[in-house]
Amino acid sequence: MVPPNSREDLSPLRTDSIGKDRLTISFEFFPPRDRAAEDRLLPNIRRLEGFHPRFVSVTYGAGGSTRENTLSTAARIGAESVIPPAAHLTCIDASREEVDSVARDYWNSGIRHIVAIRGDPPGRAKDYEPHPHGYAYAADLVSGLRRIANFEISVAAYPEVHPEAASAAQDLTYLKRKLDAGAARAITQFFFNSDAFFRFVDHVRAAGIDAPIVAGIMPITNIKRVQQFSRHCGVTLPAELAACFERLQQDPAASRRQAIATAAEQCRRLHAQGQRAFHLYTMNDAGLAAAVCKQLYEPLQNQGDN
Ligand code: FAD
Repeated sequence: MVPPNSREDLSPLRTDSIGKDRLTISFEFFPPRDRAAEDRLLPNIRRLEGFHPRFVSVTYGAGGSTRENTLSTAARIGAESVIPPAAHLTCIDASREEVDSVARDYWNSGIRHIVAIRGDPPGRAKDYEPHPHGYAYAADLVSGLRRIANFEISVAAYPEVHPEAASAAQDLTYLKRKLDAGAARAITQFFFNSDAFFRFVDHVRAAGIDAPIVAGIMPITNIKRVQQFSRHCGVTLPAELAACFERLQQDPAASRRQAIATAAEQCRRLHAQGQRAFHLYTMNDAGLAAAVCKQLYEPLQNQGDN
């Protein structure tokens, strides 16, 4: 297990000097509930500017439940920080006209990057039924968005296979369809098994996909929630990792340090094996995201200085 590092130092780093070991980082936030929470979140997101993120994305509640808040948060990131915003958009439970209208609102608000996602039905994933007048799958959504404007588009990928997929091969076929439809990159579901990730990347390349695959990294800030998510999403959570965080449940400060150290170590190991692009699921904790980046970047920077 990674020894927790006691520092949570948020001072700026010269991340541009990482040189040949350069990596790209992006962050994901969910839209705050109201304007006051948004006002509190924005300065925290600006604290991440020093890491030169490729983008910060804002999730979208399936069925459009966060439509206004997603748009407003992403638009404010674009207007009030130097970080390019990306807004997620799901197509579940909505007609094409409704989805297209949200996309046009994004464009008119200065948002040029969409994370195009199908979304999940409430209840069991197996119950998915496309809206009769909607985009059935994310690939259809990507095609629709390309017709609306020249968006940069990212899509989702699943190193341990999407739970509804009949097979890994079929899942890969549909991933290729999304990228062929015009997506620029795929961001993965979170994972803890690096071997599964690299096997997946090998299969992706063998399938003729050359788009960047961005590794989705989830710091374990709440072990119960991560156990639940992992079960729901078919993600393997190693028993040793779960046990470590279960032991720390009564000590929030130590648990937080361990979450930071574990996420940074996961990124460092992936980086050492050639992975260069990382997407951090921040759970709206910008301080934690910054601390992970610090622990990730510092050793790389020192290597670059030698
Ligand atoms: P798709 O790519 O459409 O795939 C869904 C399933 O259908 C897969 O099993 C695939 O193999 C299969 N499939 C695809 N095309 C076809 C076809 N033509 N025929 C038959 N089967 C097909 N959820 C939210 O609600 N809001 C968000 O903001 C959000 N952001 C996310 C960001 C990332 C990076 C990730 C990894 C997930 C995100 N999710 C979000 C969760 C997402 O909604 C679920 O994972 C959902 O179940 C699948 O979305 P998708 O875009 O990958 O779907």
